[in-house]
Amino acid sequence: MATSPLREIWEKLCSYKEITILTHKSPDGDAIGSVLAISTALERIGITTRLYNRHDVPMVYRFLPGWEKIEVVDELNPSELSPCIVVLDASDFGRVSLFKKASEEKTVVLIDHHQPRESFGDLAFIDTSSASTGELVLKLLEENRVEITPDIALCLYTAVFTDTGGFRYPNTSSDALYAGYKLASYGADPTLVASQVYSNYPGNRHKLLGMALNTLGWSEDGLVAWMEVTLEMFKATGTKAEDTEDFVDFPRSIKGVEVALFFREREVGGVKVSLRSKSWMDVASVASLFGGGGHKNAAGCEIDSTLTEAKEMIKAEVFKAIQGRRN
Ligand code: 5GP
Ligand code: MN
Repeated sequence: MATSPLREIWEKLCSYKEITILTHKSPDGDAIGSVLAISTALERIGITTRLYNRHDVPMVYRFLPGWEKIEVVDELNPSELSPCIVVLDASDFGRVSLFKKASEEKTVVLIDHHQPRESFGDLAFIDTSSASTGELVLKLLEENRVEITPDIALCLYTAVFTDTGGFRYPNTSSDALYAGYKLASYGADPTLVASQVYSNYPGNRHKLLGMALNTLGWSEDGLVAWMEVTLEMFKATGTKAEDTEDFVDFPRSIKGVEVALFFREREVGGVKVSLRSKSWMDVASVASLFGGGGHKNAAGCEIDSTLTEAKEMIKAEVFKAIQGRRN
C-alpha cells in the first residue's frame, strides 16, 4: 500500500537531527501558531528546530508558548539553514524572503493552504480548500499519532481561529470548526485565545484606528469600501504596522459592502494593500495583478507607488471586476 503524503512527510522529518522552520514575513496567527506547533512536536522527539522570521512576532501572539524561539533576521545564508527546511503558510520564496532558493542539498518541505506560484518544495502537502495551515499541521500530527499537548493545541487553535477571523469569515467550514473542537478537546482554551487576540490591544492602537476610520470611504453603489493608514498617523500615535491587523474588518463590516480595501503606507516605501470580499468577488485575482496573492475572500499585495496611486490602481481593478460581473 502506498504511504500517505502525511506519513511520508513525517517520516522524512524524523530522519533529521535539526530542522529549520520558516513562514512568511509579517507573520500572522496562522503562521506563528503553525510554526510553534510543529517545532514543539519535533523538539519533543529530540529534533532541534531553528525558527527565523524577517519580522518580529507581533505582540498579540506573544502568549503562545515558545514564541521567543523565533529569531528575527534579515537574511539567511545557505550555510545557516539546516539540511531540512519546513516552510509553512507561504508558497513562494518572495513571501518567505529570507533566502532566494534552497540549494540542491537541502530538503524543502512545504505545508500550506495557498496555491504555490512556483515549483516549491521536495515534499509538499497543499490543500487550498483548508481555512488555515494550522488545520493541515493538525492533520499531519494526528495522522502520525503524534501526541497533541495542550501547548501544541493552543498554537494550532490560534492558527485556525485567526485565519477564520474568529470563526466568522466565509472560510469557516465545518472542517475548521471541527478542528477547533478537536483542539479545544486537546486542551486549547478558546476563551484565552479570543481574549488575547481580540481584547488585549494597546490603547494607542485605538487612537490609530480613530484616525484610520476618519479616512473611511465607499463607492456610490456601496459595494466597495476602503480605509487607509499613513506613516504620519503611525508617528502621531506611536504605533507600527502590526497595530493595523484586522483594520480591514471595519470597511468590511459595513452593510452591503462586498469588497473591503485597506491601504497602509510602508516604512520602506510603497503601500501594503489588504483586500477582503464577503462572497462572490475573487480578491486574490485582483491582488495577483500586482504580484500579490491569497485566497478568494482574503488577499494582499505590496505596491511600489504612492498611497494615492495605489488606491487609484486597486480601486480601478476592483470596479472593473464588478463591472465584468454586471455585463
Ligand atoms: P493580509 O491582508 O491579512 O495581509 O493578507 C491576507 C491574505 O492574503 C494572507 O493570508 C495571504 O494569503 C495573502 N497575502 C497578503 N499579502 C500578500 C502578498 O504580498 N503576497 C502574496 N502572495 N499573498 C499575500
Ligand atoms: Mn494562513
